[in-house]
Amino acid sequence: MISFNQPPVVGGEEEYIDDAIKSRKISGDGKYTKLCNRWLEQSTGAKKVLLTTSCTHALEMAALLLDLREGDEVIMPSFTFVSTADAFIMRGAKAVFVDIRPDTMNIDEKLIESAITEKTKAIVPVHYAGVSCEMDTINDIAHRHGIKVVEDAAQGVMSTYKGKALGTLGHYGCYSFHETKNLSMGEGGAILLSDEHEIERAEIIREKGTNRSKFFRGEIDKYTWVSLGSSYLPSELNAAYLYAQLQKCQSVYDDRMRNWNMYYEMLKPLRDRGVIELPVIPEGCVHNAHMFYIKAKDLEVRTKLISYLKSNGIDAVFHYIPLHSSPAGIKYGSFAGDDNYTTKESERLIRLPLYYGLKSDQVEFICEKIGGFYR
Ligand SMILES: *Cc1c(COP(=O)(O)O)cnc(C)c1O
Repeated sequence: MISFNQPPVVGGEEEYIDDAIKSRKISGDGKYTKLCNRWLEQSTGAKKVLLTTSCTHALEMAALLLDLREGDEVIMPSFTFVSTADAFIMRGAKAVFVDIRPDTMNIDEKLIESAITEKTKAIVPVHYAGVSCEMDTINDIAHRHGIKVVEDAAQGVMSTYKGKALGTLGHYGCYSFHETKNLSMGEGGAILLSDEHEIERAEIIREKGTNRSKFFRGEIDKYTWVSLGSSYLPSELNAAYLYAQLQKCQSVYDDRMRNWNMYYEMLKPLRDRGVIELPVIPEGCVHNAHMFYIKAKDLEVRTKLISYLKSNGIDAVFHYIPLHSSPAGIKYGSFAGDDNYTTKESERLIRLPLYYGLKSDQVEFICEKIGGFYR
């Protein structure tokens, strides 16, 4: 069986974890957490990066930083992972779902403005498959309405929009280092801050609502509980794993990109025949080869293709059940405007195996089988 995903192991992880153990510092904010924060700040240009226990938790931190109240509204696509919505709904907000563009599966920037009400507090663009949303338009809308932008850049580490790192284009950016993402620490993530005046508040939220970070820097002589917060600080063991990955990020990127390009080239003839569709990368966007997906004609063909691939030892998968049609989505959110593409396009999408270490001949085999299905 060719598995759909395998967590990246690049070499060096064990050595750093071992070093963390030997240093007798395994809780958070030690050497490796700081090295990762700094590495990410330097490579993205963000004012501040704080490692978190997950992207979900980075989004929760953004929701706390936004100071959301009961009844506030947050605009987002319905075609996304549950955490995009959950983090804000936990603070009492309502999710307002906007339709996606069929080419990139990202929120349709042209439909956002008509979903804004006096209760709207934020827009949460999700950079699907590591391909950027149309951020100039989204930031312009947010600016004109005095609302904030929280980028769900869970899939967008090492991607750019007009030369800038995803996660640095809005007020807050959220990364994931889950084992299914390009770079990993098992479970983990990061929040990227664009405003240096918010660094202290973010540190407090991440340290259970205490000003402990200031205390450790010697800026105050005792620490205390100052606001709402939670335990969003990852262990040094996880950070040590990530630091090894960050240092080898280029080889992860190159390996994934080689396979992504190979899929694209080998499946082009099927696209030209009009039987499948391939991902679209708009001008100005450089992606990170996070995902390779194709689109079948409809749900029926997709179901057959997935089981055909399974019977040939290939684990291809689909996602997401649109949030607005899930039980929690119905309870906590609503769709603004028409669902022209969210349901229809999500039912056609198939993700093909793509991970660090996937072999060229495996990609070739998968493409041949897809070709065989359509013969
Ligand atoms: C993976 C993912 C998340 C959640 O990331 P975790 O680190 O597992 O919490 C959130 N949003 C999107 C779009 C994702 O792909």
